[in-house]
Amino acid sequence: TERTFSILKPDATERNLTGAVNAVIEAAGLRIVGQRRIHMSQAQAEKFYEVHKERPFFGELVEFMTRSPVVVQVLEGDNAVARYREVMGATNPANADEGTIRKLFAQSVGENTVHGSDSAENAAIEIAQFFTDADIV
Ligand code: ATP
Ligand code: MG
Repeated sequence: TERTFSILKPDATERNLTGAVNAVIEAAGLRIVGQRRIHMSQAQAEKFYEVHKERPFFGELVEFMTRSPVVVQVLEGDNAVARYREVMGATNPANADEGTIRKLFAQSVGENTVHGSDSAENAAIEIAQFFTDADIV
């Protein structure tokens, strides 16, 4: 079993879709073992997306991620990192497979409903940014 880090992004909370997204996550066999609703500060968002700081969309991304509350989550299951990437679908919803969260709910490449870690190593780093061990059960 493995853990990954997930964010239900502002476009999900704004449209009251957190339960609908969680239903897809759970139907895919992933267990939500940590979950909290937060409003990210600019500093938190800039740190979280630090790897993208030279990309042209960085400013827009930080503005979006701090626009409304998000739900940060720890997901657990077999091959959770790869499994969740599969369930999320392609970054650009126009390229996402049928049945994926981004195909079902996302509106654009920027406002794409969910984040999921891209490796087990990054999952551990990202989980530690938002959760203590006692909050994962
Ligand atoms: P995430 O890291 O959020 O799980 P991802 O790994 O599919 O998504 P990345 O390439 O890591 O995609 O990009 C991080 C995020 O930056 C994307 O989810 C999206 O919100 C935003 N983003 C990526 N490309 C663009 C773009 N061309 N224009 C606007 N925003 C973008
Ligand atoms: Mg990414």
